[in-house]
Amino acid sequence: MSAPHWIQPHPQGIYVAPADCWVDPSAAVERALVTHGHADHARGGHGETLATPETLAIMDLRYNTRAGAVPVAYGETLRLAGGVDATYLPAGHVLGSAQILLEHAGERVVITGDYKRRPDPTCAPFELAPCDIFITEATFGLPVFTHPPIGEEIAKLLGTLAANPEACVLVGAYALGKAQRVIAELRAAGHHDPIYLHGAMERMCRLYEELGVPLGELRLVADHTKDEMRGAIIVCPPSALNDRWSRRLPDPITAMASGWMRVRQRARQRNVELPLVISDHADWHELTQTVLEVNPRETWITHGREEALLRWHELHQRKARALALVGYEDEDD
Ligand SMILES: [Zn+2]
Ligand SMILES: [Zn+2]
Repeated sequence: MSAPHWIQPHPQGIYVAPADCWVDPSAAVERALVTHGHADHARGGHGETLATPETLAIMDLRYNTRAGAVPVAYGETLRLAGGVDATYLPAGHVLGSAQILLEHAGERVVITGDYKRRPDPTCAPFELAPCDIFITEATFGLPVFTHPPIGEEIAKLLGTLAANPEACVLVGAYALGKAQRVIAELRAAGHHDPIYLHGAMERMCRLYEELGVPLGELRLVADHTKDEMRGAIIVCPPSALNDRWSRRLPDPITAMASGWMRVRQRARQRNVELPLVISDHADWHELTQTVLEVNPRETWITHGREEALLRWHELHQRKARALALVGYEDEDD
């Protein structure tokens, strides 16, 4: 019987035994290494939180976690207890998101957190790191999930807006990451009109701007009349799409930006008239391509839907296992 591996998956997170610390634990621990600010990865209440400065700022905004915050820059290597080195590398998922490379006794383990390979004007691009064990997310780990180029989805949104100058387009988007990416992509596509925000989006958008991501002119819905918002794009949390709040808007056409919009049923459930397939996660092709490029000895899979990816590994004579971590559900699809 061989000794237990030094990286130990538990239902509540990934335990790094020699350093006595956890990666993205779902409960409060003494020392946590956090990949990014989404709620399924970042929790408050840890003794010490090691994360990028952007992730720490996001966590502080959401959970008041300034105490015990230890900033780690991309590319910087920290020596942890027990001879473990930790290096944070960009994951391309949301602002501040990192993959964590752990090195111990000559072995390299990469924990991706959530990631994508597509360009995103709001965050640093994914950096490929060869390793022995690759712990990958698989939120969209089915061949049916192929995300279209974001330019196509943004063009659909702008086309709908232009065709309905008396109405407005209400876009449901997660408050951390998706909302800012959609706004930044609209700006890149030449849309410079004011964009209106639901109150729940304001602080995160302001924080992105403070951290160097310009979003153009943003206005709060609450400060404006129905008529002022005709012909405008309005961004709100997905939960507000069908809520009484939207009655104050001029004939809203409901849209939603999510990788799940590929599934018609999901769009119908939310009464989404204009589904926009925009995801901050790797799609099937990106997941499998990344495994081939990283070329690990073993792949460990998190975030559900692991069956197809396990089968793909089998077909490619690659070793893989699914980790049953609890609470990794996408705040952020
Ligand atoms: Zn995430
Ligand atoms: Zn996640």
